[in-house]
Amino acid sequence: MSMSVSVVVPVYNEIENIDTLVERLLSACGELPHRWELILVDDGSQDGSTERVEVLAEQHDGHIRGVILNRNYGQHAAIMCGFAHTRGEVVITIDADLQNPPEEIPRLVQCIEDGADVVGTIRQNRQDSLFRRTGSRCINWMVQKATGSPMSDFGCMLRAYRRPVVDAMLQCHERSTFIPVLANSFAKRLVEIEVGHAERAAGESKYSLWKLVNLQFDLLTSMTTTPLRLLSWVGLAISISGIAFGLLLLFLRLVMGAQWAGEGVFTLFAILFIFIGAQFIGLGLLGEYLGRVYHDVRGRPRYFVDHVAGTTHLDGEPARRTAAIAAAGREGRS
Ligand code: UDP
Ligand code: MG
Repeated sequence: MSMSVSVVVPVYNEIENIDTLVERLLSACGELPHRWELILVDDGSQDGSTERVEVLAEQHDGHIRGVILNRNYGQHAAIMCGFAHTRGEVVITIDADLQNPPEEIPRLVQCIEDGADVVGTIRQNRQDSLFRRTGSRCINWMVQKATGSPMSDFGCMLRAYRRPVVDAMLQCHERSTFIPVLANSFAKRLVEIEVGHAERAAGESKYSLWKLVNLQFDLLTSMTTTPLRLLSWVGLAISISGIAFGLLLLFLRLVMGAQWAGEGVFTLFAILFIFIGAQFIGLGLLGEYLGRVYHDVRGRPRYFVDHVAGTTHLDGEPARRTAAIAAAGREGRS
């Protein structure tokens, strides 16, 4: 029995693309030997895409489900919502603008069947502006360094996930998420393949500069609180150099005399540096608290059990026992 496949597509004002998209998705999925479903998430479109999604869902009843959001929440929130409606053992995400060819789907499914938990894609001959490509390169480099993840393209949303990874993501309740990074934090076997990339078939990018910047901050904060911690280190460095500078001044003052010291102007600088540094340390300390509060507010589950081997004689006991263990697990901080 082969695995079942769910394809999730976020749709935001894509009226010019949606018919071609669905057509190509249907024929790509139709060739799969698997059972499959298509989840179209309408992310608060205002150009008639919503109605189109409803019609398509009705026409292809049994294969397409339309999920209509009441307003625009953003691509990643829409995909999360789509995840909640999937039933497949393999879950694929793909953009609605046909930049990612739907014909690549069978290859992604194959990778999951071969044992991967997450399949990422690298866009070959990426068809985006130089600004977007350079930005992407910097950010991918940063994410790689911060997460130690071997993936090299986090921006491409043509991806495949194994069911348990999707379930794990669904249990994360933070408002700002960046799905590829979140998924990698729950996956063991990561695979990356190269896929084709096309220009946007029609319409404009739905990411304004502002939304793009916001997305990068989601990415950063969903990954790490290191920037907050950095404040303390910057402060420490400034303070120490302030003290060193002060000592140097004192030494030179004793050797060269009061005239050289410029009536204490530089001494003032040294003192100032020490205080500025202290302020940064204070900020960093606040950051540490903030970071911890943030972790707790997100309430991410701490771990996920992949599978359990063997049984014990306690298995038949009332559920109260396991509930107590689960509560204990929640209290331990990672
Ligand atoms: N999208 C969405 N909500 C948004 C912005 C985008 O659902 O607020 C969808 C959009 O319809 C498309 C995908 O996310 O299917 C990627 O968007 P786009 O192609 O505009 O991004 P880019 O390729 O420029 O990064
Ligand atoms: Mg696009």
